[in-house]
Amino acid sequence: MNNTSVYDVIIVGAGASGLICALECARAKKRVLVLEKSPLIGRKILVSGNGRCNFTNRFVSPKNYFADKKLITSALQKFSFQNCLNYFSDLGVLYTEEENGRYFPSTGKATAITDAFKAALSEQSVEIVCNQEVLRITHGKKFNVHTANATFQSSKLVLACGSCAYPQVSGSSGGYRLAEQLGHTVTPPLASLSGLVLKENFSRLVGIRTQARLTYNGTTTEGEIIFTNYGINGPAALNLSPLITRKLSQGNQTITLNFLPQIKDIQSFLNNRAQQFSHRKPKDFFAGILHESIANLLIDFKGLRKNKPLKEQSPTALQNAFQTLGKWPITVTSLRPWNEAMVAAGGVNTREINYNTFESCLCPGLFITGELLDVDGVSGGFNLHFAWASGFVAAQELRKEN
Ligand SMILES: Cc1cc2nc3c(=O)[nH]c(=O)nc-3n(C[C@H](O)[C@H](O)[C@H](O)COP(=O)(O)OP(=O)(O)OC[C@H]3O[C@@H](n4cnc5c(N)ncnc54)[C@H](O)[C@@H]3O)c2cc1C
Repeated sequence: MNNTSVYDVIIVGAGASGLICALECARAKKRVLVLEKSPLIGRKILVSGNGRCNFTNRFVSPKNYFADKKLITSALQKFSFQNCLNYFSDLGVLYTEEENGRYFPSTGKATAITDAFKAALSEQSVEIVCNQEVLRITHGKKFNVHTANATFQSSKLVLACGSCAYPQVSGSSGGYRLAEQLGHTVTPPLASLSGLVLKENFSRLVGIRTQARLTYNGTTTEGEIIFTNYGINGPAALNLSPLITRKLSQGNQTITLNFLPQIKDIQSFLNNRAQQFSHRKPKDFFAGILHESIANLLIDFKGLRKNKPLKEQSPTALQNAFQTLGKWPITVTSLRPWNEAMVAAGGVNTREINYNTFESCLCPGLFITGELLDVDGVSGGFNLHFAWASGFVAAQELRKEN
């Protein structure tokens, strides 16, 4: 580390978007310095996908993102799903497709990705300095990048600091402050891809996993949900959280839960089944289609008589129970806090960013990439894909002469 050197490009943050950007700049013979506040590079990559790193998705498309349409479309055109696979192949990473188009390294470990970057960056002699938090940036003709004990200079600067989500693993608000110092505005970040805290008490179901369809304001998600001591988690719940987090300032939000997502017409299915099994008590009637604890909760909740066969139940109570199974209303009061949120909704205002290059429209020579921007995706590899895409696209501009 030489604190009087002038670099072509300084990149703040050795996360997904910073690493790809650094490598692409270095491959074009730019002199690159990466400053990272943590002791390790790529800490969120390492914890992503439960340590397996779901790094992209076959179904990458603008509709999986909450973002300015022009910006996300441009980024995904320039770095598509196929470009991403080719990129990681060329880096030497073997990968495997899993359900719903999700891609993971075949080793089953996220280190396959960080190690591949480490090797490639070292082949290009990129300087990466860890334990260096950038605290302040000033600029005239050059950018002066200040840490607690050094100042570095560069012609171009990339803020790839990520978001404030998951502070126990490198998440911080530092990047927003740096962007603001350089004239940008920040849409206040909200926790997203985080469990849904419910008003209703589902403590009898804690630990139960089931397939479900959730519907919120006309949007549906389907997949596994997990009941917890605060409410629900799991992919189907997480994928509604970006929509819900944006509305919670207006009050509690209602969603409906369908416990039989594979059945098209639940009412007629259950009515037919009720004729077939009219001699069965409710618990036995629901056995085979519902988890026992969910069935018991429904029976109590709707006042079905436990010891009477279906034919002796009140028809109204029975129809009501059948209806509830397909449309169980639940009330979301909040999302789980930052230390459980995988991403932030909000960030640097993308109207201030050139959507073709990720260069700042306010501060020439400054580029902003990754989750620091006001772009977030649903779960399934989309957030990492955007981090790679934005870092890659910024590098295409930075690779140009001067
Ligand atoms: C638990 C968890 C699981 C996830 N799983 C997945 C998944 O499977 N698939 C998926 O697509 N996405 C997943 N994500 C989201 C994904 O990890 C992020 O969207 C992605 O890492 C963002 O990349 P980034 O480069 O923008 O930021 P980051 O990867 O967060 O990197 C930013 C880096 O900048 C550093 N930094 C910040 N401020 C400064 C400063 N002032 N000075 C120096 N360095 C600084 C940070 O320490 C960090 O290393 C997950 C996130 C979490 C928390």
